[in-house]
Amino acid sequence: MRYRIAPHLAFMIQWLRVLGFDVRPWEKRELLDPLHDALIQWEPYPLPLPRKGRGLTVITLSRATLPQLLKEFLEQSGQQPDPEKMFGRCLRCNTPLIPLPPDTVKALWPELPEYVYRTQKRFNRCPTCGKFFWEGTHVRNMRRTLSDWGVLPKETGVE
Ligand SMILES: [Zn+2]
Repeated sequence: MRYRIAPHLAFMIQWLRVLGFDVRPWEKRELLDPLHDALIQWEPYPLPLPRKGRGLTVITLSRATLPQLLKEFLEQSGQQPDPEKMFGRCLRCNTPLIPLPPDTVKALWPELPEYVYRTQKRFNRCPTCGKFFWEGTHVRNMRRTLSDWGVLPKETGVE
């Protein structure tokens, strides 16, 4: 499912992408396909849905904080974060990332810090904006935050 999210909930976008969901901002005149698209809106600010939007899946969230909203999204959409897909999208532009071996990253990006090159085994690159991603403290911190919020199961001995 491709999600389009209301402007009032834009602060959820990066976290939903971290969780592996395909999420882009909702554009006013964009034609949505009921078979593949679903709309996420916030109860206090319902979107002006065109008549053609009939049959479209609309997820209406009502909670107030980011952790509550993320959990409410999972409940209402019936989706669970897929560990295989988590951290698999560019946080900047939503494109699915492509895994690359460290040597290829080093060849494409000679400025890759030596420490990162020596310590990280898994790299990804966004084919759209060219940004490189790797597991590191940032990813670990985000995982921890998500489990502290109760969005992911509590971590058990995960580094
Ligand atoms: Zn990108």
